[in-house]
Amino acid sequence: MPDAQSIPTHWYNIAGDLDVAPPPHLHPGTREPVTADDLAPLFASGLIEQELSTETDIAIPEPVREAYASYRTTPLIRARSFEKALGTPARIYVKYEGVSPVGSHKVNSAVAQAYYNSLDGVTRLTTETGAGQWGSALAFACARFGIDLEVWQVRASYDAKPYRRFLIETYGGTVHASPSELTEAGRAVLARDPGTPGSLGIAVSEAVEVAVKDPLARYTLGSVLNHVVLHQTVIGLEAVEQLRAAGEDNADIVFGCAGGGSNLAGLAFPFIREVLHDRAKTRVVAAEPTACPSITQGRYRYDHGDIAGLTPLLKMHTLGQDFIPDPIHAGGLRYHGMAPLLSHTVELGYVEGRAVRQTDAFAAAVEFARNEGIVPAPEASHAIAAAAEYARGLTEPEVIVIGLSGHGQLDLPAYDAYLSGKLV
Ligand SMILES: *Cc1c(COP(=O)(O)O)cnc(C)c1O
Repeated sequence: MPDAQSIPTHWYNIAGDLDVAPPPHLHPGTREPVTADDLAPLFASGLIEQELSTETDIAIPEPVREAYASYRTTPLIRARSFEKALGTPARIYVKYEGVSPVGSHKVNSAVAQAYYNSLDGVTRLTTETGAGQWGSALAFACARFGIDLEVWQVRASYDAKPYRRFLIETYGGTVHASPSELTEAGRAVLARDPGTPGSLGIAVSEAVEVAVKDPLARYTLGSVLNHVVLHQTVIGLEAVEQLRAAGEDNADIVFGCAGGGSNLAGLAFPFIREVLHDRAKTRVVAAEPTACPSITQGRYRYDHGDIAGLTPLLKMHTLGQDFIPDPIHAGGLRYHGMAPLLSHTVELGYVEGRAVRQTDAFAAAVEFARNEGIVPAPEASHAIAAAAEYARGLTEPEVIVIGLSGHGQLDLPAYDAYLSGKLV
């Protein structure tokens, strides 16, 4: 049962805790640091305040905590059987976000974003989605806070993974395949490349375009931005406490998968807080797919969040705003950039990147499922593979924490492809 009293009362904002301040977002036209006014057409005011905040602890509003209480706290599971299978002396703990209503961590930010938009009187939200996890999380949150939702879903996922589209529609949201004919950005891409599989960058442009043209609409993003990372810190805040309750002082190393960086940052930043205050020496590893390796292969520079250049310029590890990765099964990891806050902590040396091949990710995920019962989301499988490889190499006991960002029960066709040898 969820334990409402253990749900954190405040999110943790690492921007307020670092000696070196993160580089500001820049206005795409003037290249000056963005102001709250610049962001007002895009986002709810409460979220803009969080985006620019340097306060370390930010109170979680009671209606959001109540929404959290329907599925939080999420479990921290000791993966003993997996440890044995790996033959490792490590003690492996898994922080499992798959118990949320839509089966991933994305709900943690979705309910907060819907709540702050409802405070501003917003009646319509737009967004993009890849595999559909963000879209379905936001659809759930919009239903809860009485807001209409329109989702632009990356074409490749729209065709290959219809179940989350059905989930979005079940919660009352509307889904368009992206690129669509409904926006200038979408029409421009379709004119050049009618058969495009789409990308998150294109879908962002479409959702932003529609939001800025309607005064009662706002745009939402399911990852990357500071306020999204902030909301996800409930994961790590709980995990730090749960690890202590399990009798461990600290984690030696934390693994998470990184697409836009939000679940990993959300898990890792409260652990890094312990490092910043000299209470621990925890290492953090960001596992990313070899097909979309923004940390390990990208450059750290200012780039747009979308293909049309409508979003602020973000200082981040990026493969370039027009990078279109191969359509791998971990749709949530197909984004060209990495959260500026996570990128900044990489630059400061608190987080290291590791690229994982898709087949290695599925091999580790299958091993995990056969031992622990949970079928991991393909995204999270990258973290499991990186952690498993590390654990196998250990000769001394260490405490490993893995972020299991979601379950994979709507991704079983991807498992089928792997098990029947169709993945490369
Ligand atoms: C969206 C998603 C990701 C990738 O997004 P991050 O912002 O990097 O967390 C990872 N895992 C799951 C289950 C997702 O839905």
